Amino acid sequence: ALDDHASGRHFLQIPGPSPVPDRILRAISLPTIDHRGPEFATLGKKVIGGLQQVFQTEHPVVIYPASGTGAWEAALVNVASPGDSLLMYETGHFASLWQKMAQRLGLEPEFLALPGIDETGLPRSWRHGVQADLIEERLRKDGAHRIKAVCVVHNETSTGVTSDIAAVRRAIDAAGHPALLMVDTISGLASADYRHDAWGVDVTVSGSQKGLMLPPGISFNALSPKAIEAARTARLPKAFWAWDEIVEMNKGGYWPCTPSTNLLYGLSEALDMVLEQGLPAVFARHQRWGEGVRTAVRAWGLPTQCADERVHSPVLTGVITPQGVDADALRRLIHERFDLSLGAGLGKLRGRMFRIGHLGDCNDLTLMAALTGVEMGLKLAGVPLAGSGVLAAMAFFAGTPLVDVASR
Ligand code: PLP
Repeated sequence: ALDDHASGRHFLQIPGPSPVPDRILRAISLPTIDHRGPEFATLGKKVIGGLQQVFQTEHPVVIYPASGTGAWEAALVNVASPGDSLLMYETGHFASLWQKMAQRLGLEPEFLALPGIDETGLPRSWRHGVQADLIEERLRKDGAHRIKAVCVVHNETSTGVTSDIAAVRRAIDAAGHPALLMVDTISGLASADYRHDAWGVDVTVSGSQKGLMLPPGISFNALSPKAIEAARTARLPKAFWAWDEIVEMNKGGYWPCTPSTNLLYGLSEALDMVLEQGLPAVFARHQRWGEGVRTAVRAWGLPTQCADERVHSPVLTGVITPQGVDADALRRLIHERFDLSLGAGLGKLRGRMFRIGHLGDCNDLTLMAALTGVEMGLKLAGVPLAGSGVLAAMAFFAGTPLVDVASR
């Protein structure tokens, strides 16, 4: 049968799972070892130490054999008691899912948002980052300190908008409020600058399948001493997710249950790759890719989902399609014709936008190929374009070496 995709690699251009480098795939393929044996302790200690460097923390990092959703649940059940109030912030679909999870766990999350819809017909709160002043204002009204934790998403994968986490910490401190700060950087870690300790975060939630370039399947909680203390008295039931036993056994390089041994081989390799290059270079690399992709989107004359120039995600770019153009039909067309997967518009953005991931095992040329696939698809779908994004991105990548971005 005639098949346009009979050869070459599929272009996995969604914002996670990201394409896995061959070096990591080879590491994962090694034979599984005894998770109670002597070799394992070396691996266990190494990956925890490496993760601490990536989270930029001196405190424990817990690894779960679960997707990011499990690590979200772990963060909540470790520190909260039945009926606790939480202050969560609506940046997009993933913030909304975390809020729904809190409700299902019997917590009382209040969901702050920037009100209104804008000229694109989309919610303003889904086009901007967390507004720290709204958080400060709300906490000041909570004189009885009923709010147990403030929960925000650092890199909102459904929109391509990042949030200023240090500003959220300052807001909590300015209000003189004891709430814990819990942050989801499932899609930001090892791509966008993130500093667990320096930003005063109590629990950071992350996952394997984005910036760490691993397959899905393991996820993380980075802790602060205040979070560990809160877990001692919190009363939501917790067993599998409980930090205390895991942190204790991790001191020797082991886990209470069977860890994902082969994914930990992959994690060890991923940490070598990221730390060999150095975090500042990793952040600059993603920043540059983001700028290149936005250069293309601007040349097409399409709006990005992120409406604030200061907080574009370095990990993915959301592109809003003109009213009347079904973004899902466009994605299907691009997938069928060019074997390229793009991220869908999620929740309130369904059918109105698509997302281009620029993370994982990619480089200028694979990104150029992806942009070419998008531009061909836009033309086939009859979307009027202001110009060629491909030509604009070529000029950007050729004219902007990484050192220029890294030295800013
Ligand atoms: N939070 C964010 C920001 C995400 O991007 C995702 C997944 O894409 C999740 C949470 C949920 O993680 P998972 O799908 O690994 O359970």
